Amino acid sequence: MNSTFDILPVDFLADWPWLAWFFRRLQSFVDVSFFDGGGRYYWVSGLTSLGVLAIAYTLRPDWRARWGGGFLRFCFPAGFFTHRSTVTDIQLNLVNYFISPGINIMWRFTGVFFTIYLMTVMVAVFGPPPQSLEWAWWTILGYTVVHAVLSDFGYWVWHYLAHTVPALWAFHKVHHSAEVLTPLVAGRVHPVETILLPVFRNAAVSLVMAPALYFFVGTAPAMTLLGMELVGALFAIAGDQLFHAHVPISWGDRLNRVFVSPATHQIHHSVARQHWDKNMGGYLAVWDWMFGTLVLPDSHQDIRYGVRDDMPQPHPGLIAAYLQPFADLWRDLPRPARLFWRHEE
Ligand SMILES: [Zn+2]
Ligand SMILES: [Zn+2]
Repeated sequence: MNSTFDILPVDFLADWPWLAWFFRRLQSFVDVSFFDGGGRYYWVSGLTSLGVLAIAYTLRPDWRARWGGGFLRFCFPAGFFTHRSTVTDIQLNLVNYFISPGINIMWRFTGVFFTIYLMTVMVAVFGPPPQSLEWAWWTILGYTVVHAVLSDFGYWVWHYLAHTVPALWAFHKVHHSAEVLTPLVAGRVHPVETILLPVFRNAAVSLVMAPALYFFVGTAPAMTLLGMELVGALFAIAGDQLFHAHVPISWGDRLNRVFVSPATHQIHHSVARQHWDKNMGGYLAVWDWMFGTLVLPDSHQDIRYGVRDDMPQPHPGLIAAYLQPFADLWRDLPRPARLFWRHEE
């Protein structure tokens, strides 16, 4: 196997297959996360995120004073990566990756399922597919943008349900029990969420994939940049790792209604009751704006993160993060209505 990060002595571990497997997965985690376009911690996004922080550091003396020290201290405050919550983030990122081969199958399966289903409906209603239009650069561009917008809408629908349906919240809560916001929180996700989210994204994007398959010759060629889908690449270049940033970087009231800013997502992670179930957008804030769940951020905000401040941390470590959601479901099993409709605790 070719690895960008090929310094681990895998060949010397031939006599210990389990250890060799472990190191191979570790290498592949680093490859996929940091060096592959579309990786959660893609180095390009990491670099541009540092660039955005450099601009913030230069323009905002109040932020410089708040986090103290030089630029490095500003980007990585004391205790940033050693906080108990961040250690759980790191563990979840790693263990999730180790079990990911089984989970990723869901992406492919539901992607094909919804598109084929919709295509079948279109054939039944409108007759055989013409499949006569040739792809041109502007139709490819339009398809790429609509695909990205629908995928983001699918994410919002999932995220809304993950907050309002108790059985789903039990799993999504793992993301919200982070007490410190670092880019690693993006991977603080329960595997059940990783299995369910693609269902919503794929259902949404099938609304453009099926018509494309119906009218055009061949499948839609994706427009890519830096080895990733164009729109995702543009957000990566804009520094999307800052969505989980400690600095309340905000785009200003107008742009914050369209695009999610780091300060917008900070509010999503707030323990304050008035912030619960707000700002659920992935990249676009328009869904929250449309459905009345947008709270505009403020670049002076000072937010405390977590699930609730009147209860102890529900996921103090890795084992609790994985198992507590199932315990929550088990507790409510005798009263199944509680799994689907909210109740006050
Ligand atoms: Zn959430
Ligand atoms: Zn988050």
